Amino acid sequence: MAVERTFSIIKPDATRRNLTGRINAVFEQNGLRIVAQKRIWMSRQHAKTFYAVHKDRPFYASLVDFMCSGPVVVQVLEGENAVAKHREVMGATDPAKAADGTIRKLFAESIEANSVHGSDSVENAAIEIAYFFAGYEIVG
Ligand code: ATP
Ligand code: MG
Repeated sequence: MAVERTFSIIKPDATRRNLTGRINAVFEQNGLRIVAQKRIWMSRQHAKTFYAVHKDRPFYASLVDFMCSGPVVVQVLEGENAVAKHREVMGATDPAKAADGTIRKLFAESIEANSVHGSDSVENAAIEIAYFFAGYEIVG
């Protein structure tokens, strides 16, 4: 297995409930190392561009509103097989379908307010990381 980097967001529903540390503990317990992290308030334009892949889906406008509704914590996580491992510990998009012990099962409020984002491929991870971080901000 290769050491990979993935991009992660702790979403506004989780920062509002002060869950950053508990979510980070799940990442660290599962072999993911936080090699970059910052708390930001996303602008509408930033959120719209980030989620542009979903622009024709019925939930797009609501998702953009939600992602701009409070602070988020953007992160780069590093580890063996990091993209798949991160998605495994996040759990299914819909918390009602997420496996026991996953972050979304533990913490998500709804299919939209589902506490975390994770890249879906190594290629998209690189694009998403570059959208939020300069190289000097990532320290492995
Ligand atoms: P993410 O991309 O956030 O890691 P994901 O890959 O599991 O999650 P996607 O299908 O990429 O899910 O959807 C992106 C985000 O859009 C979801 O995390 C969720 O916040 C929101 N979303 C997805 N499906 C729905 C839906 N049916 N209704 C409302 N919001 C949704
Ligand atoms: Mg996705």
